Amino acid sequence: MTRSSQILEDKLLSKVGKAIEDYSLIEEGDNILVALSGGKDSWTLLHLLELLRKRAPIKFSLKVATVHPGFEGFETDLLEAYLRSRGFEYIIKRTRMLEVIREKLNPDSSFCSFCARLRRGILYNLAPELGCNKIALAHNCDDTIETLLLNQFYSGQLKAMPPKLFSDVGRNIVIRPMIYLKEADIAKYADAKKFPIIYCKCPVYNDQNMKRKQIKKLLAELEIKNPGTKSNILTALSNVVPSHLMDTDLRRK
Ligand code: SF4
Repeated sequence: MTRSSQILEDKLLSKVGKAIEDYSLIEEGDNILVALSGGKDSWTLLHLLELLRKRAPIKFSLKVATVHPGFEGFETDLLEAYLRSRGFEYIIKRTRMLEVIREKLNPDSSFCSFCARLRRGILYNLAPELGCNKIALAHNCDDTIETLLLNQFYSGQLKAMPPKLFSDVGRNIVIRPMIYLKEADIAKYADAKKFPIIYCKCPVYNDQNMKRKQIKKLLAELEIKNPGTKSNILTALSNVVPSHLMDTDLRRK
């Protein structure tokens, strides 16, 4: 690894370590299921968690799972070969997600949010079957900021992606150790490490009208005009003033 890649790796590890500490994401004895889509983010997450696992003063284990969405051309052979050669326990969960989305998607709903809900449901069932008490997802700080704006613009809700989430049924804990990492740094790192990246072959992936792509573009424009916009939005998520909002459940009597 070059000196600049090593510096980048140290920076990413330190930010992941900070998120783990700030939100108690990993504890002694945890069995963590890492969701691997095969993209740059999930490869980076797996790699950083494995480095931390080897260095951490506490013991925890990692298993890796890919939810195969049933999209034509989505090939997992590369992932499987890479992971098995490095001794990871790896599971591919084959699904009929595409058919389910096409059959059940409400015309007013987004393909992506329905897809994300289905994937999460599959992971929620898979984790306890594999003896895992936590599920690690590879969302980064850009994903979190975009989700916050998407929810405000299109759902009328003030919510983003939390670093740690207890599922509604209380069976699973979802953790997002890369919540402080920037997408651009992850892309540089994945490139430097030459991870065997595969693409999801999703039929709507290149749809330029997708709301998330529009929000991404908007944020990039705002960042040029006012550098620091994105980091300010992220900071705002941990600096909430309930008395200055309008949710009657949150307001002090
Ligand atoms: S782009 Fe495709 S695979 Fe990705 S979340 Fe949207 S529907 Fe799912």
